[in-house]
Amino acid sequence: MGYDNLIKQSGLNKTTEKASRRISKINKPRRKEEQDRNTRETPYLAKKERDRNTRGTPHFVKKQQDADTTGAPEKHDSGVPETPFSGQIFRTHSRKNPDVLSYRDYPKEPVDIDSISLEFMKKSCFVPLSVYNGTFEIAMADLKDADTIDALKFAYGLQVAVKKGKPDDILDAIERLYGNGRQSLETIIEEAGKDISNGENGAEEDEGHLRDLASEAPIIRLVNRLIVDAVEIGASDIHFEPYEDEFKVRYRIDGVLSDVESPPKQFQAAIISRVKLMAKLNISERRLPQDGRIKLRIRDKEVDFRVSTVPTLFGESLVMRILNRETLLLELQKLGFPQDILEQYVRLASQPYGMILVTGPTGSGKTSTLYATLSLLNSPENKIITLEDPVEYQLRGVNQIQVNPKIELTFASGLRSIVRQDPDIILVGEIRDRETADTAIQSALTGHLLFSTLHTNDAPGAVSRLLDMGVENFLLSSTLLGILAQRLVRIICRDCKEEIKSDARLIDSLRLEPHETKDVRFYEGRGCDACRHTGFRGRTGIFEYIAIDDDFRNMINKRAGMDQMRALALKKGCSTLRRDGWQKVRQGVTTVSEIIRVTLAE
Ligand SMILES: [Zn+2]
Repeated sequence: MGYDNLIKQSGLNKTTEKASRRISKINKPRRKEEQDRNTRETPYLAKKERDRNTRGTPHFVKKQQDADTTGAPEKHDSGVPETPFSGQIFRTHSRKNPDVLSYRDYPKEPVDIDSISLEFMKKSCFVPLSVYNGTFEIAMADLKDADTIDALKFAYGLQVAVKKGKPDDILDAIERLYGNGRQSLETIIEEAGKDISNGENGAEEDEGHLRDLASEAPIIRLVNRLIVDAVEIGASDIHFEPYEDEFKVRYRIDGVLSDVESPPKQFQAAIISRVKLMAKLNISERRLPQDGRIKLRIRDKEVDFRVSTVPTLFGESLVMRILNRETLLLELQKLGFPQDILEQYVRLASQPYGMILVTGPTGSGKTSTLYATLSLLNSPENKIITLEDPVEYQLRGVNQIQVNPKIELTFASGLRSIVRQDPDIILVGEIRDRETADTAIQSALTGHLLFSTLHTNDAPGAVSRLLDMGVENFLLSSTLLGILAQRLVRIICRDCKEEIKSDARLIDSLRLEPHETKDVRFYEGRGCDACRHTGFRGRTGIFEYIAIDDDFRNMINKRAGMDQMRALALKKGCSTLRRDGWQKVRQGVTTVSEIIRVTLAE
């Protein structure tokens, strides 16, 4: 595949993926009885079970897209009614192209109005949006349902303004705001306490009892609530951690752990068992680590969870890694690559053979970069095989193999078998030992393009690490094409971003040239609801990149040390993590302290 093609596909041209995703959000309205039954029995998560047919006109799709890309959901005012009576009814259905609400347009909190029967809302398929200036605004599936509108008008003595909503979204909002499915964690925990207040801490229960506990409705709701909240906040992991006298639940968001309201200690066994059941793990086995997977549909998105348990002193500790396909940024450009590095890297990735390494500690975004690279190279004429531990995302058209040392399927042994499968491109999850390194180099020498990762702090460190493992220098120099080092930095929240005075000492610690630090404006997030008062929202990568040319090859042949390699890289003007980080500070993307935090080890 040509270089130009690759650049084009690397995300520089917009794909239509977004549009098609929007289309799939538009659901076919369903018969009311069916909706009713569904929502009643399966409050929240199980909504995924409903099939989702797609329907929609191009006009509609565009509207949706616009609404979605503007970012934060519209806030609805739930003020007190001012004019007590007015007979007028606003109906938007008379308009030619009615706007249909996106699920984001629904309020976050129940609207402050005297109780409306849950059954009535469900049966007539409407939900309150706001009460403001004497107008009661509702979302409704059937705008022609004058009976319901009249009934509301009569009951509340307010004008009734109607917006069209999708039945699924409305029923969802009813459950979420007024139904049993959406209660605060606090309420659920309280309610669960009434049902499961046997005071046991779950140390000696038998399997049958555990299964019963885990199937209690409040426990199911509690676990669902924890999972949905985590996904909606954009967490990457949910941690369930038992301690001597408490049971903690924490979310990892943008790489940082934060506490969630913790359920009482006596629910520990029930909650852990519930998640284990969902992941099809053996709930009676609590002394050995276990791994499993859960696949759920949450808010129209397919979300995979990787579940792992380990026995600790005070019970099983469980972690759910959230593998949200939609947040996996499969386009290199969106990963924060500077344009020049992106072009060089893509040119390298279009070579027919050789080895490309991505380095960085755990959680530095290496997997995203490699998956993005593979999706870029993924075409019918390329056979791609990966060897991973674990397989994080399934890539269509890619043969992915899970390493399993228990049956002696290691990176090294797997790689030897892979080569016999005649691949063009190979991804080896990680090079940890000499055997894997040798096999990797061997396959790169014999006409394969091989990608792998190493846990080194920077790009020059990768060469030293491989040489230290005992890899032959001349083999390494003749196969290595390039090394990419990377980190993830948090992005300043755009809702509360403000200019700040620079801290000279912090900037000095980056050891930049004086001309680089001139005329730079610094920003910081003040903290707001949108970023949960952290001042940051989302992450992006910073990169260091070395393309191996003759000079570097000579150095490797001479077994030069890391310092010499680094000096050569600087002399050649290669970007370093700090330099690229600094560019992102200059662009107002992140803060100086973020750069220092993630490059501390340098
Ligand atoms: Zn903010």
